[in-house]
Amino acid sequence: MSVDLVIKNGTIHTSSNSYAADIAIKDGLIVHLGSSVTTPSATEIIDATGKEILPGLVNQHVHFREPGQTHKEDFEKGSQAAAAGGYTMYMDMPNCTPITNTLERYQDKVALASEKSLIDHNSWAGATDPDEVVKIYNNTGNLGFKIFMHRHPEVDYPYVPELAVYETNRLYNIFDAIAKMDKNIPISIHPSDVPLADELFYRLKAMGADDYSALREGKDGMNMTLGCFEAAFLAHITGLKHLNILHLGFNEITPKPHLDFENRVTLVDLVRKLKSWGWDLHAEAEASAFLQRDPSVNWKRRWYTPDNEKLWKALDDEVFDLMLIEHAPQLEEEANKPDVWDAASGLLGAQDFLPLILTEVNNGRLTLNKLVKMTSENPAKFLGIYPKKGAIQVGSDADITIIDLNRKSVIDESKTFAKAGWSSFDGYDVIGVPTQTIVRGTVVYDEGEITADPGYGKYIDKNEYR
Ligand SMILES: [Zn+2]
Repeated sequence: MSVDLVIKNGTIHTSSNSYAADIAIKDGLIVHLGSSVTTPSATEIIDATGKEILPGLVNQHVHFREPGQTHKEDFEKGSQAAAAGGYTMYMDMPNCTPITNTLERYQDKVALASEKSLIDHNSWAGATDPDEVVKIYNNTGNLGFKIFMHRHPEVDYPYVPELAVYETNRLYNIFDAIAKMDKNIPISIHPSDVPLADELFYRLKAMGADDYSALREGKDGMNMTLGCFEAAFLAHITGLKHLNILHLGFNEITPKPHLDFENRVTLVDLVRKLKSWGWDLHAEAEASAFLQRDPSVNWKRRWYTPDNEKLWKALDDEVFDLMLIEHAPQLEEEANKPDVWDAASGLLGAQDFLPLILTEVNNGRLTLNKLVKMTSENPAKFLGIYPKKGAIQVGSDADITIIDLNRKSVIDESKTFAKAGWSSFDGYDVIGVPTQTIVRGTVVYDEGEITADPGYGKYIDKNEYR
């Protein structure tokens, strides 16, 4: 047998082991794994001597801002940034304009993404109405739903009021409708208790608090924990198996708290507790909360967490199932407002996450196996598309991320592919970088260059992949 591509001499990492093997790829699929003696001849060969080979990373949390906010990001540039960060697939979020909460809007959005995306993709549909949820799920390849429990008392973006579902009865009706279709449908939820969030926001403003701690406490504070409890409870009583709580780590980011609570319960604290009760929950670590190194709180580095040892401990204790830095771009000038209450929140994580976390692999904070589990295998399992995605196995899509774990580099925002063109991590020294990203057997990113065309990425339809 002759094949299209062979990757030779690398070390393959799965969640449970690491081993030397060659990978043979034909028609976009992995057709052979094994020693070089048995590797078939190939049209193209990549010599991965000294390199580490991971299943392509799957990113379940990007906001590529299309349609509507294309000055911040779009499918073409966003997917290039993701490919440069080792990702082979993404799930896009529905808080664009118009919001992606109807069948027609969902189909329009998929068409847009399919035209422009470099890597494989699907989009979360925004769940706002039980009937529409059923219509979207039954008539498309949609993999799952996003629920924003949050809306801001004064600002309409990125927390779009029409997308917000924070009333207990509405949330229950949506969960119930989803559970009646299939209890394994993935749901990603931004937890918040809106009445509490409003109260915290106006208390902080009345106190004259105007630093980034105040911004976090008034938006991403105890309201998130309370909302998480409500969502987890409703998922538990309706029997939903795949509720993913987003943003664990966000409400650890309060270097100088203004609000005086007797007990401060963060998302990490609550999810740890709920998992100890045996509740079915997935938890997504927002890694910016523990990868930030600079204690000076200026606008670009405002994600500083004073006690990130707590988060590393939670990682060791398996509190998190998924890990990334969310990609929620704002323009530099939208984020850098003199009044902190006017600053748009969101950072650009798709391209920088992998080198930052590989640096921590080199620091001994986690193994490559654990990284594979949290960034390839678990996302694919959560989405119900494993092992066609998220695995290096015979028969899987040939989605592969090759890394040089020893290469030293400096994060340089002028080299980002993301449209907004800046990074919270600009200037950080890193050790370990992705060198090639391969999607279904095609090299789409190679040593700093994008090597495939917009639209190469494929819509990952549940009817084909589940
Ligand atoms: Zn987000």
